[in-house]
Amino acid sequence: MNGTERVLFCDFDGTITTNDNIIRLLRQENPSGWEGIKDDVLARRISIREGVGRMFSLIPSQRREALTRFVVEGAEIRPGFQRFLTYCRSEGIRLLITSGGIDFFVYPILEPFGIPQEDIFCNGSDFSGETVRITWPHSCDRHCDGDCGMCKTTIMRRFPAAERIVIGDSVTDLAGAQLADWVIARDYLLDRCREQQLPHRPFETFDDVIAALEAHAPVKGGMTE
Ligand SMILES: [Mg+2]
Ligand SMILES: [Zn+2]
Repeated sequence: MNGTERVLFCDFDGTITTNDNIIRLLRQENPSGWEGIKDDVLARRISIREGVGRMFSLIPSQRREALTRFVVEGAEIRPGFQRFLTYCRSEGIRLLITSGGIDFFVYPILEPFGIPQEDIFCNGSDFSGETVRITWPHSCDRHCDGDCGMCKTTIMRRFPAAERIVIGDSVTDLAGAQLADWVIARDYLLDRCREQQLPHRPFETFDDVIAALEAHAPVKGGMTE
């Protein structure tokens, strides 16, 4: 492994934050019909991109500030995240945030942590119309037919030579987990990693993530593993 760049692809909702911000926001706004769309997404009758787009289209654009305040103020960061960032910087580990969340809450929640904007991948939003329109600056490349919205494997394919590690919690991380060298997982993703025998370590805090990265640390100073 020596000499191989280590790149982390870290999920946001339910991973960096302890809960899912999109669900929390929609529950709060409770626009008529959103739950049926959510159920269609979970049952995979429609894609994540279609579902998220349709749910947000039920919310008036004039709610922008209220939405942002609600999500940002209520977001809870998983313990150890700041130590994890410091660890990545000191070890020269490249950290990319790969989020199915939306820019209007992902950037402000991450703002205190000083992560370069170009290392954060998420969906966009347009509040210029009557209702919220989600934009998809990182949609699937020709290798993915998942209609993901924010396509995590598309980002990962830009680093074919790296040691690729996925950190995540849910169904939107599964395709990336299957492509990764190994996975740091909790909740739903952890169950799938066990079932599918994907190489993985479990986590609950980012201190667990640091410990997992240390345990799988490439050999320093010459010899390959
Ligand atoms: Mg998640
Ligand atoms: Zn995709």
